[in-house]
Amino acid sequence: MITTDTTTTLLKKHFGFDSFRPNQEAIINDLLSGKDLLAIMPTGGGKSLCFQLPALMLSGTAIVISPLIALMKDQVDALHANGIPAAFYNSSQSIDTQNEVLQNLREQNIKLLYVAPESLNFLLPHLNENNVSLFAIDEAHCISAWGHDFRPAYTQLGKLKKQFPNIPVAAFTATADVATQDDIVKQLHIPKAQKHLASFDRKNLYLEVRPGTNRLPQILRFLRNRKEESGIIYCLSRRSTETLAEKLVANGFQAQAYHAGLDTEERSRIQEDFVNDRTPIIVATIAFGMGIDKSNVRWVIHYNMPKNIEGYYQEIGRSGRDSLPAQTLLFYSFADVVKLRQFIEESPNREFQLAKLERMQQFAEALSCRRVALLNYFGEHISEDCGNCDNCKTPPQFFDGTVLTQKVCSAVYRLSENEPVGMLVDVLRGSKNAQLYEKGYQNIKTYGTAKDIPWLDLQQYIIQMVNQGILEIRFHEKGRLLLTPLAKKILFEGRKVKLASLQTKEKPALKERVE
Ligand code: ADP
Ligand code: ZN
Repeated sequence: MITTDTTTTLLKKHFGFDSFRPNQEAIINDLLSGKDLLAIMPTGGGKSLCFQLPALMLSGTAIVISPLIALMKDQVDALHANGIPAAFYNSSQSIDTQNEVLQNLREQNIKLLYVAPESLNFLLPHLNENNVSLFAIDEAHCISAWGHDFRPAYTQLGKLKKQFPNIPVAAFTATADVATQDDIVKQLHIPKAQKHLASFDRKNLYLEVRPGTNRLPQILRFLRNRKEESGIIYCLSRRSTETLAEKLVANGFQAQAYHAGLDTEERSRIQEDFVNDRTPIIVATIAFGMGIDKSNVRWVIHYNMPKNIEGYYQEIGRSGRDSLPAQTLLFYSFADVVKLRQFIEESPNREFQLAKLERMQQFAEALSCRRVALLNYFGEHISEDCGNCDNCKTPPQFFDGTVLTQKVCSAVYRLSENEPVGMLVDVLRGSKNAQLYEKGYQNIKTYGTAKDIPWLDLQQYIIQMVNQGILEIRFHEKGRLLLTPLAKKILFEGRKVKLASLQTKEKPALKERVE
């Protein structure tokens, strides 16, 4: 029986810490009693210690599967600094070094061995139930096609449990939605895995979503009172990071663009300047932020919508690490959804990615507490609204949108369910657009019947109808709109529709057209 005293003593002795972080002790105890487990802990939560400490206490070597060869050396160096014998094994090493590692494994000179999933096959013949203490799988979401970073080399990790049924397998990740969590357990063949779900709630982050129109003036207004604060603006493309950074500079802000197209030297210089408060604002693609340790990032803006909630969560999570209030702002535009859809169409695991994008979109369009929606996604349920998001601060107002919805549905029908949102809005607003006239749409009964509603608002209302399941968008067919059975109930059976009023939100002055 291992007592708390023993683990706490070792925690102090080898790592110099006085107490455990949330979940660490429970995970360690599970591993010490030979249980499989799945641990989801936010970045910086202290995952490594959860397998490093038991590795010291159990006989044999802990095999740690880690995808990033670059980080392995750092981890092993850190262990050495704490006096813990460890090594790594991967394709960047010479044959001689690899053989030396294998010899150390045979002679049981090391307590932890880090290995890249691609190199695991070479290692397997040297492992048996007597010389291995546990398997720790870092970044375990990589095993699942549902995860946001699927890596084929991970799929073979499923054989570990089959080959070594008595060795505990511990899967660790910082982000996995509920579907991914289930899939990890399935793929690793650890159906009885104990789940340790650390809270994902970052209460100090204010969550806000605004329509993605007229973004620059909105950003300038946002920044005006934050001159001394550090923040990151995420964009979808390299080019937009540069143009936006230039515009900010032209408006008197100190900003730098950052993306994977810059050379290594310049990138590390920009990072350094940011970390050391010389450059307060970074306009970046998602290449920026990984491994950056800066606690006083006060805000994160998403100029474009991220392609899934995992990415969004990770990116906003770079702000407010010091637990002081931080602001996050996501600009949501339908044009971004269309663009992201196009990217995804060309990707191999299209189906999963589309499902994830849809969840992201639902989050952006949520009319109730954003934090509830966000945490739900990761399987965490909070019982009360957060009070620290836009929807909690200014709840949307609803109005009876039945008549408007009927007009929209009728127009969709008259357009033979063959036109995208842009044309539908034009028809309802009585546009004089040439293409519309060519097709004779000016003769449709509902032509011009919603001309009092601004273009973008009308587009938003139609998106709400899509989200309520009244209309369907066929993205892969030029975004044409179709009526669903629900639409027929509204048209012919007097069914009522509630829509969220857009009057309370900031009024965009410019139009952003999506065709
Ligand atoms: P993760 O892998 O979850 O992102 P790490 O394992 O790298 O996080 O841990 C993040 C930091 O927290 C490290 O600097 C680690 O030394 C520190 N840490 C881990 N556990 C504790 C603890 N119980 N008390 C204090 N610091 C800890
Ligand atoms: Zn809320």
